[in-house]
Amino acid sequence: SVPLAFFAGLGATSKNGVLIKGSNYLEALNEVDTVVFDKTGTLTQGSFTVTKVTPVSGMTKDDLLGYTAAVEQNSTHPIARSIVNSFDGDLSQYTITNSVETSGHGVQADVNGHEVIVGNEKALANITVDMPELDSTGTTILVAIDGQFSGSIIVADEPKPDSQTSINDLKQLDLETVMLTGDNHAVGTTVANKLGLNKVVTNLLPADKVSEIKKIQANQSDTQKVAFVGDGINDAPVLVQADVGIAMGALGSDAAVEAADMIIMDDKPSRIASTIDIAKQTRRIVM
Ligand code: ADP
Ligand code: MG
Repeated sequence: SVPLAFFAGLGATSKNGVLIKGSNYLEALNEVDTVVFDKTGTLTQGSFTVTKVTPVSGMTKDDLLGYTAAVEQNSTHPIARSIVNSFDGDLSQYTITNSVETSGHGVQADVNGHEVIVGNEKALANITVDMPELDSTGTTILVAIDGQFSGSIIVADEPKPDSQTSINDLKQLDLETVMLTGDNHAVGTTVANKLGLNKVVTNLLPADKVSEIKKIQANQSDTQKVAFVGDGINDAPVLVQADVGIAMGALGSDAAVEAADMIIMDDKPSRIASTIDIAKQTRRIVM
């Protein structure tokens, strides 16, 4: 049977804006020694703005942005939304066929009969890219048209105002904080260093994030647990692999909410430390 104090604990967490799918997860929070975060939409706002458009010579900014926005129309990725929103022209002039999205890479489609690839270095692996300086202020999105590198677009995202408090509070509780991201090294380390996380691993595919969680678990004792906090469709397998999976409920994907054990209703990362506090108080009452 479930001790009554757990009901009180679950009540307290729901007042704190966190839904927990069972008292066992509240109890498990007491054993968490490492909190692993996704970056985009979890520690950062997940709403990008286009800050720079750099076409190769012979191409206009509008052409580059137009072809890119045309391909990104079919993607729900926050980077895709920002690029579509920043294009002022008429997207109906582009005919899109054979649209394919590869998570952690980017998107590809035929636009008016031209093959367009949009994404990171992995997405353009087969194309000779005149690589722009990686910009730590934003994520560099590369574009290839008919097998030719055609330019780059920088999109920037800011940490949530609440993320700094979250990391400070978790460190105060003596927890290890880690960031896993599919974003590049320049952007990933800039955000992680700014917030003061203990560790950051960049350029990860969704499957790599699962392996990183397994690596942490392999180094833990039976009583140590790892929590993962994420928001995206890609994050579902990682949320399942972690001992405690925590999803953002407001702007997070349905897949993440479904896969998670705990849901932060207002997307504030600082709710993690306050929920751990409630878990500790609940254990004190039960024991
Ligand atoms: P994160 O780990 O930060 O949540 P994702 O796994 O969603 O990142 O994406 C990793 C990287 O893959 C992005 O930083 C971007 O370079 C590239 N990418 C993914 N989807 C798209 C897209 N629709 N358009 C352009 N680039 C994309
Ligand atoms: Mg993500």
